[in-house]
Amino acid sequence: PSLSVTDYLRAHIRTVPDWPAPGVQFRDITPLLQDPKVFRVLIDAFVHRYMDKDMRPDVVAGLDARGFILGAVIAYELGVGFVPIRKKGKLPFTTVEETYELEYGSATVELHTDAVKAGDRVLLIDDLIATGGTMMAGKKLLEKLGATVVEGAAIVDLPELGGSDRLRGEGQLPLFTLVDFA
Ligand code: AMP
Repeated sequence: PSLSVTDYLRAHIRTVPDWPAPGVQFRDITPLLQDPKVFRVLIDAFVHRYMDKDMRPDVVAGLDARGFILGAVIAYELGVGFVPIRKKGKLPFTTVEETYELEYGSATVELHTDAVKAGDRVLLIDDLIATGGTMMAGKKLLEKLGATVVEGAAIVDLPELGGSDRLRGEGQLPLFTLVDFA
């Protein structure tokens, strides 16, 4: 029997127990990138969706750091620009910033003030949605500059953490993910 894209991708995600902390099941997407056939199936799944004329964004924004790998390739294939949303202290030009709460402590992300223009329609990409905090911070940054996030996309969703439901609900952010892990 032929495998669905979801099952094919799921079979190439490595789960590392208790990393980086006890109790965390880390969903490692590096094997997807390492195998050229799998990498192509992965990227094409996103490109197929966003190539459509109603879905095509003006800009792709990628979240530090695995969102850079995916977002840059997808932007290149769509023929649009790519902008990085980075952890604080890495971007050289003027920035907007957004701080959000983590389980222990907080994190701050930044975006160059000229990365997007008011009215731009942006596709926001990361590898995985857990609590949704990172994706929400990225959306807020883009909105500070007057852009609209048309969709958030990731390879993996962890629905039991409630992040994707929260983003779709109060955040009003449509989401597209390829593989769920319970
Ligand atoms: P969150 O902000 O809680 O949605 O966390 C999402 C970010 O943390 C993404 O950039 C992921 O790369 C990373 N992350 C969180 N939990 C995991 C996990 N179980 N496996 C792999 N990456 C994770």
